[in-house]
Amino acid sequence: MFEKVLIANRGEVALRIHRACREMGIKTVAVHSVVDVNAMHVKLADEAVCIGPAGAKESYLNKANIISAALMTGADAIHPGYGFLSENADFADMVEAHGMVWIGPKPEMIRKMGDKVEARKLAKSFGLPVIPGSDEAVKTVLDAIQWGEALGYPVIIKAAAGGGGKGMRVVNQAEEMEMAFTLAQNEARSAFGNDDVYIEKYLAHPRHIEVQVLADNYGHAIHLGERDCSLQRNHQKILEETPSPALNAEQRQSLGKMVVDFVQKVGYSNVGTVEFLYENGQFYFMEMNTRLQVEHPITEAITGLDIVREQIRLSAGQNLDIRQEDIQFNGAAIECRINAENPDTFVPCPGKIGQWHVPGGLAVRVDSGMYAGCDVPSNYDSLVAKLIVSGRTRNGALMRLRRALGEFVIEGISTTIPLHQEIVQSPDFIDGQYDIHWLEGFINNRKG
Ligand code: ADP
Repeated sequence: MFEKVLIANRGEVALRIHRACREMGIKTVAVHSVVDVNAMHVKLADEAVCIGPAGAKESYLNKANIISAALMTGADAIHPGYGFLSENADFADMVEAHGMVWIGPKPEMIRKMGDKVEARKLAKSFGLPVIPGSDEAVKTVLDAIQWGEALGYPVIIKAAAGGGGKGMRVVNQAEEMEMAFTLAQNEARSAFGNDDVYIEKYLAHPRHIEVQVLADNYGHAIHLGERDCSLQRNHQKILEETPSPALNAEQRQSLGKMVVDFVQKVGYSNVGTVEFLYENGQFYFMEMNTRLQVEHPITEAITGLDIVREQIRLSAGQNLDIRQEDIQFNGAAIECRINAENPDTFVPCPGKIGQWHVPGGLAVRVDSGMYAGCDVPSNYDSLVAKLIVSGRTRNGALMRLRRALGEFVIEGISTTIPLHQEIVQSPDFIDGQYDIHWLEGFINNRKG
C-alpha cells in the first residue's frame, strides 16, 4: 500500500480523499494556490505545498508544479479527485513517467473515454444502446444539416472533448443549424482546445441515470447500482438520488449487468461511472466518466462501501475482494449540491463566510471544505457543501432532508439552500415524477 498520497485538488473532494487516506494509515500531501493557504484541506493534510497563484491554470491545472510537489515530498501516488486534471490522460502519463502511481484508470482508458465520439463507438461495438446520432465527428455545416434531417429535429450538438455540460447546443430546426454549429465549434475550441463536435437526437423527456462500477486489474468488476441525476440546470447536476424512483429491482439488475459486461469487455479497471439517458423504458449510453464523481456519497450511503478507499486499493494493484452478491442496497439517499450562488439568478456569490453551522443527526452527512470565517474564492467552482441524507425509505430520506436543510446556517454569502428547500416540498419531486427538463421548468415557474 502507498505510504504517501498527494491530493491534486481542493475543497470538499480534497478532504474526502484525505479522510480515506487517514483511515488507511496513508500520509497526505495537500497542494494549494495562494488564495487557498487557509483552506481546510491544507490544514488537515500532513504536508502542504503552494503550487501557484489563484488562477486554476497556474495552480490546480499546473502539471509541472504538481509533479514537482509530489517529487519534493516523496509521494508515491497522486489522487486527482474530480474536475481539474482528473480526466487528463497526459497528466496521468506524466505521473507514471515520474515513477508514481496514478489513482485512476490507465491513461489510455481515460483517453479513449475522453473522446466522446470514440466512447460512443466503443459502447456501440460492445452492444450498448447509444442515442441515435453521428458516428464520427461532424466537420461541416452541410454535414450537420444532413444529420439534422436524418435524425429529425430537435438535435443536440456536443463537443467530443466535452465535460461539465459545456459546449452543448440544442437545435430545433434546420435554419438554426449554421449559427449553432459554428458557435458549438468555437465554444469547444476555447473550452477544450479541440473543436470536434458530434450530433445526437435530442431526447424529449429522458432521465439521467448512471451506474457506479468498481473493477480491478484482474478482470473482476461489480456495480454499485444507479444514481438518478435528472435534476439539472444548464446540463449540470443539482440534486441526485439513489435508487432512481423510475426503476424497479429487475431493471436495476439488468442495467447493472449490462454495465459490468461492458466494463469487462473494454478492460476497464478502477472506479468509473457509465452514464445513460433513460426514456420510454429504454437506456441509451451517453458517456463514461473515468474518475470519482461528485455524487458518489449517495451510493456509499446505501451500500455502506467507501468508494475512495476501494479506489485507492484498486490503484495499488489489490484485488476487488467484494462480489456482486455481497452488495446490498439499503434504503434511499439524496444529495443536495449547495453552491455559493444567488438562488434566484444563479450568479456566483463568493465572499467571506460568517456563521457556519452544519446539520447533524442520524444518517446526515455534510462534505465541505468550508468553515466559519473562511473565504470562498471567486476563482473556482461554486460548490461549498454537499448535504447527503439517507433513510430506510425514500420518504424517510425526504423528511430527514427537509429537517437537515432547515438546520443549515451559512451566513455572509448567498447559497442555493432555498432552491433545495423548494424542490423537496414540490409534489412532482415528492412523487419522483421528473425528467432532465423538470428543474428548469420549476425554476422558471417559481420566478413567474
Ligand atoms: P457532460 O460530460 O458535459 O456532463 P453529458 O454528455 O454527460 O455531458 O450530458 C450532460 C447532460 O446533457 C445530460 O445529463 C442531459 O441532461 C443532457 N443531454 C446530453 N445529451 C442529450 C441528448 N441527446 N438528449 C437530451 N439531453 C441530453
